[in-house]
Amino acid sequence: MKMPKPVIPVTPASSWQSQLAHAVTDPLQLLQILGIDPSRFPQCQLAHQGFQLKVPQSYLAKIRPGDPKDPLLLQVMANAQEMTPAEGYTHDPVGDLDAVRTPGLLHKYAGRVLLVTTSACAVHCRYCFRRHFPYETQQPARQHWQAALDYIQSHPDVTEVILSGGDPLSLSDQKLAELIAELDNIPHLKRLRIHSRIPVVVPDRVTRDLINLLAGIRMQSCMVIHANHAQELGVAEYRVLQQLKQAGIMLLNQSVLLKAVNDRADTLVALSERLYECGVLPYYLHLLDPVAGARHFDVPQTEALALMNTVRASLPGYLVPQLVRETAGENSKKPVFGL
Ligand code: SF4
Repeated sequence: MKMPKPVIPVTPASSWQSQLAHAVTDPLQLLQILGIDPSRFPQCQLAHQGFQLKVPQSYLAKIRPGDPKDPLLLQVMANAQEMTPAEGYTHDPVGDLDAVRTPGLLHKYAGRVLLVTTSACAVHCRYCFRRHFPYETQQPARQHWQAALDYIQSHPDVTEVILSGGDPLSLSDQKLAELIAELDNIPHLKRLRIHSRIPVVVPDRVTRDLINLLAGIRMQSCMVIHANHAQELGVAEYRVLQQLKQAGIMLLNQSVLLKAVNDRADTLVALSERLYECGVLPYYLHLLDPVAGARHFDVPQTEALALMNTVRASLPGYLVPQLVRETAGENSKKPVFGL
């Protein structure tokens, strides 16, 4: 079948807010833009009804047109396999809801708490462990932050706060600045950690104002980005990550091991090499969290261990991420060893 010529839509303005607002949210439009035959993704519209597709144009620009197996496309494209029920795959795979202490505040592990600051993300990753998270009841609107702040105040053993979501960098600078200022005023907090995929997805969001905000606080700032493939880290991503690093912000990366995306040793090696070029240390490589709809991304543990053996033989130790699994109710993520 002859495919129509790819149509690249023009974004009316280039601010990061505009880029988020003009993300592609229709699977057939995404395929049309990329010049991919829709028959390669049957029932994608139905799968998308269960979890909306969302791809900003800065991410779209890194997907190879015409390639239905592109590793970036597979992370974001709605897929009929998502609708096949799988035993053990649930809506709350890592026990988030049992860890809620006040709306939007999760306290799972000693010494740190996590704030679900927003439901919004710049991109919707099909394997996301929070794809079914009940954001409507855990929505951390302004009034909820007070309960979260009170909780942290009354727990002097908590020395680190993780801003998560959704993606915390979806929030405006003003909202972020207000929340961070409140946290910075709590004397026993030593570290602010931000978990964000945005530097990899909409790098323009990492503005000078944002960098100054993160670099100008009393707490030590750390950002854990989320890249799964070296192809995600182009020139713009390199530039903003270097800027963050130069501002003194510790940069780490967490990835998810995903079938057909990054389940080859050379792909993982290339990712580590590219991360280091960008000023980022590989931190975690997660085995897939068993979230309903993501079974087709699973890489069996024995395969993962064999892959890691090859990766370890190819890289210096500081570029080898730790293979981990998170299990609901445990007191930390657990390293996965073997072979
Ligand atoms: S950016 Fe993070 S929270 Fe948002 S959909 Fe992707 S994995 Fe989930």
